[in-house]
Amino acid sequence: AKPIISIVGRPNVGKSTLYNRLTRSRDAIVDDRPGVTRDRMVGVGRVGANPYWIVDTGGIESDNEEIHSLMRDQVEFALQDSDAVIFIVDGRDGATAVDIEIAKQLRQKPQITVYLAVNKAEGLDRALVASDFYQLGLDQPSIISGKNGDGVVRLLNRVLSET
Ligand code: GDP
Ligand code: MG
Repeated sequence: AKPIISIVGRPNVGKSTLYNRLTRSRDAIVDDRPGVTRDRMVGVGRVGANPYWIVDTGGIESDNEEIHSLMRDQVEFALQDSDAVIFIVDGRDGATAVDIEIAKQLRQKPQITVYLAVNKAEGLDRALVASDFYQLGLDQPSIISGKNGDGVVRLLNRVLSET
């Protein structure tokens, strides 16, 4: 069976951009199970000969008060289903309070491997952009740009070789 890889992260960090790059398709399946946000998407990606399911955990539109509990549900749902999780953060924003909460929640399920991806890193110094995220207490981050593809194949190879 194909491994299931979920993309989690707060709004606007680049989940859908990465998902679209990995699936290169417009015929994604909309997952309409209860508890799933409306625009949760499941598609097939492939690295070399190795296919995998990739899940965009979807968007949350809310004010700051609600976002914490909604993110918590979203991440919990992803953790139930997945063989691995890609946790995306925005390299231009640095680590935010919501990022820190998500990281804490992910660390509570050590049986699922979490890959930290620092996105929007095109044109930035790799070491510098990574440095703010070590406080999340996760593994070595992958520095990527979902927009132009930098580091994306390397990240997926890493995930698949360990999943
Ligand atoms: P989501 O809410 O996490 O799904 O984020 P989106 O994929 O919708 O992206 C949010 C915004 O960030 C959009 O304007 C994207 O064009 C932009 N974005 C996504 N990936 C990158 C990236 O690698 N670099 C830059 N500079 N912008 C990006
Ligand atoms: Mg999105």
